[in-house]
Amino acid sequence: MKITDAQMLISAVDEKQYPKDGLPEIVLSGRSNVGKSSLINKLLQRKSLARTSSSPGKTQTLNFYQVNHKLNLVDVPGYGYAKVSKKQREQFGQIIEHYLTNRQELMGAVILVDSRHDPSDDDESMYHYVDYYDLPILVVATKIDKVTHNHRAGNLQRIRKVLQMPSDAPLIPFSAMTGEGRAEIWQWISETSQT
Ligand code: GDP
Repeated sequence: MKITDAQMLISAVDEKQYPKDGLPEIVLSGRSNVGKSSLINKLLQRKSLARTSSSPGKTQTLNFYQVNHKLNLVDVPGYGYAKVSKKQREQFGQIIEHYLTNRQELMGAVILVDSRHDPSDDDESMYHYVDYYDLPILVVATKIDKVTHNHRAGNLQRIRKVLQMPSDAPLIPFSAMTGEGRAEIWQWISETSQT
């Protein structure tokens, strides 16, 4: 995907602030520190449009990035951050749930997991949660440059197994360092959002 225009539209704390441009949306989720900001920046070919969302106590917002005036990528706050209070987690759950169930523009979800480890319980819940809403899901295994060649196939297999992914469900290894997987992710996003 050639990026001719990428902009952060809004960091929305309230549904009323969600864009009204009617463009198709793809949501990106993953636990804090999984590499979500790095992936967004790599996808959009911008150095630091997306900032890490992992600071504890930070207001939980949905960040909308508009790409080529055709599509919005929606960054949801990283889950599983130990220092975020239970109340904050619950509030965040409600925001996400409301977004997933009500947003007409939503076409698919990219779920990020760290390629070095088994998916966490939170990753598993998120996968099944999104699957329940019948949204197309792409799982991206981040930081693949940190996995040795010998462990690569095994780690990817473990991710499929732990998440109980159907054998034909898409899983793309990605590195924000080397750019591996970027083209495949864009292809999935373009097909899924029909842009
Ligand atoms: P976020 O909290 O999910 O937004 O995560 P960040 O994008 O801020 O990344 C967390 C840390 O992992 C940072 O130190 C990044 O430099 C590092 N990181 C992210 N992606 C990659 C990757 O593909 N390869 C390597 N080696 N490090 C990465």
